[in-house]
Amino acid sequence: MLKPLSLTQVPPLSTSRGMVDYPQTARELDALFADDEACRTYLARLRWGNGFLCPACGNDRAWVGARAVRECQRCGHQISVTAGTVFQDTKLPLAVWFRAIGWVTSQKYGASALDVQRVLGLGSYRTAWSWLHTLRRAMVRAGRDALHGTVEVDETLIGGEESGGGGRHIGKKALVAVAVELNGRRLGRVRLRRVPDHSGPALIGFVQDAVTAGSTVVTDGWHSYESLPGQGYQHERRVIRRSSKNASGLLPHVHLVASLLKRWLTGTLQGAVSREHLDYYLDEFTFRFNRRTSRSRGLLFYRLLQNAVSVAPAPYATLVRQTGRGRRPQGGP
Ligand SMILES: [Zn+2]
Repeated sequence: MLKPLSLTQVPPLSTSRGMVDYPQTARELDALFADDEACRTYLARLRWGNGFLCPACGNDRAWVGARAVRECQRCGHQISVTAGTVFQDTKLPLAVWFRAIGWVTSQKYGASALDVQRVLGLGSYRTAWSWLHTLRRAMVRAGRDALHGTVEVDETLIGGEESGGGGRHIGKKALVAVAVELNGRRLGRVRLRRVPDHSGPALIGFVQDAVTAGSTVVTDGWHSYESLPGQGYQHERRVIRRSSKNASGLLPHVHLVASLLKRWLTGTLQGAVSREHLDYYLDEFTFRFNRRTSRSRGLLFYRLLQNAVSVAPAPYATLVRQTGRGRRPQGGP
């Protein structure tokens, strides 16, 4: 039985505290999302709460069917609420997904695959691992706002043996470009990206994706940044004599974020960061960091689900095959 869709037919969640957008506690989450029907209703609100658009014909009116399916009123095209999202083709109940997301977002410093497997009682480490990576993908939302205002930019090396070489030698480490937005003297949002080298194209490309033109970009004296003014940025170079990469006083905010990142990588993940998966960990760090002042962990849950319904699914096989692939523009959600 299909009925016309109107926005009011996707009601917000109702709890003892009244109408809310997301659960505040694990108990509330379990109560609200006890079965897949409740999960689908919630996903439908996140996905179509601002309106429906038929992917086949562009019509904006739909009927609502069982299991939250939408059927285009013009062409009859049917869309399940999970189609094209990370939940597409999942063999596990949505309620378990929701519990996993609730648990992961409630962990201040993130979660390992072993944690997820244990907490959710999953039989397979591999399942837990691929879930976590799927969630990390959902942490990056397309079209997110670039940083603006005053932004410190530098690079940092992750992993591998510490080299005594100094300077800008990469060796076996991964090179990560870091941009940190400043709100007065406080840290704003961050964007991170693994880059191939210290060259101008790599670093300027990162800045162009991460920082709005017209912003003031603060860097050290490295020559690769010299073309920033020509790209529409105000460029503030901070140079000390014989600048070493340990000159953390030069760009204090970006160095603080880099050290937090390294501590998080070694602490949360026990240092087991393969280079090919570093991108996902950078996404997770960025997601958490940019929401560190969120008063509620519940809001984190909401944002992650919101992202999850707008991201294409990545089967396990494609996750493990993505070594050395071209990397999409990425950074903070
Ligand atoms: Zn249609």
